[in-house]
Amino acid sequence: MIPYGKQDITQEDIDSVVEVLKSDFLTQGPQVPLFEKSIARATGATFSVAVNSATSALHIACLALGVGKGDIVWTTPITFVASANCALYCGAEIDFVDIDPVSYNLSADALEEKLVNSKKEGLTLPKVVIPVHLCGQSCEMDKIKALSDEYGFYVIEDASHAIGGKYKGNPVGSCEYSDITVFSFHPVKIVTTAEGGVATTNSAELAQKMELFRSHGVTRDPALMVGDSHGDWYYEQVELGFNYRMTELQAALGVSQMTRISGFVAKRNELADRYDDMLMHLPLILPKQHIDAYSARHLYVIRLKLDDISFTHKQVFEQLREKGIGVNVHYIPVHTQPYYKKLGFLDGQFIEAEKYYSNAISLPLFHMMTDVQQNEVVSVLSSILN
Ligand SMILES: *Cc1c(COP(=O)(O)O)cnc(C)c1O
Repeated sequence: MIPYGKQDITQEDIDSVVEVLKSDFLTQGPQVPLFEKSIARATGATFSVAVNSATSALHIACLALGVGKGDIVWTTPITFVASANCALYCGAEIDFVDIDPVSYNLSADALEEKLVNSKKEGLTLPKVVIPVHLCGQSCEMDKIKALSDEYGFYVIEDASHAIGGKYKGNPVGSCEYSDITVFSFHPVKIVTTAEGGVATTNSAELAQKMELFRSHGVTRDPALMVGDSHGDWYYEQVELGFNYRMTELQAALGVSQMTRISGFVAKRNELADRYDDMLMHLPLILPKQHIDAYSARHLYVIRLKLDDISFTHKQVFEQLREKGIGVNVHYIPVHTQPYYKKLGFLDGQFIEAEKYYSNAISLPLFHMMTDVQQNEVVSVLSSILN
């Protein structure tokens, strides 16, 4: 099976992890700060807080922005469930903004419309909006930022797909248009730490809060303490935090992987361009790139023109899998998940998202993918569609 995604692990990656195993620190040593520095350098953000997953990063990002009971957070329905769950962890409500039919990202126009209507009807406006850079392509952040200034919400970019991507020439994660940006380092993503995540920000206050939430709400910094130190052993718990720490093993892998980030993204763009050329004449809608975005190309999503094909979405998917092509679907609209339906969301509530889901398929795309493998994907797909 040609997988839809696969990590790229070199001997250098392995050596750097083994070195940590032989060192004094398996956790809370020098590697995590080094990894954080490499992310800050790559994104241009001032601060970077490493944690054990992007899910944790989204959670502490919401907490640092004060999300809680009575608040509402908006995100896109076409994302992994974690982008929405983080609001619920904080006791807040969640709602969705439909996607743009061309980029499949949260639509800035739909966001504006929903803000205008909510304000008119006297409904609670969002405390935070979480745009997700689907497939690695940045959302229209200039428009979202302008709306955040006008309507007073915070912005957390879920850039789990987008490390190494750019928007208007700036690296995604620079937080030029947001308060916090979150990255994931799960093995299917562009850079991996096995499990792991990072939150970047330009705010010292937000960084400090996220550092507290990452580790039990406990501090050894006298400046953050309520009382006076009892001695060198002294620490204070000043918030209710968690153990969301990244290990030294993970961070060392991340440091080593980050040295190859631009190569990863360049290769993914090459493969995507090659797909574009080879799939042009099939009954498909191919991914479109916004002029402002340099996509990190985490996913290559095709949409079937079902009117021109004699099979259903499910049949095309199953035939690809049967013939060794490890396709996937990203994503099932979050509002149609049983848990979310229990919260009151309905089928048919976000039309563009549901249309997208009815015909989208993610083709294999990973750094080590060979031209031979890619030709195989194209040839199997062509034989099914013709
Ligand atoms: C993978 C992913 C997450 C969750 O990342 P973890 O590191 O696995 O917690 C969140 N949002 C999006 C869009 C993702 O793709």
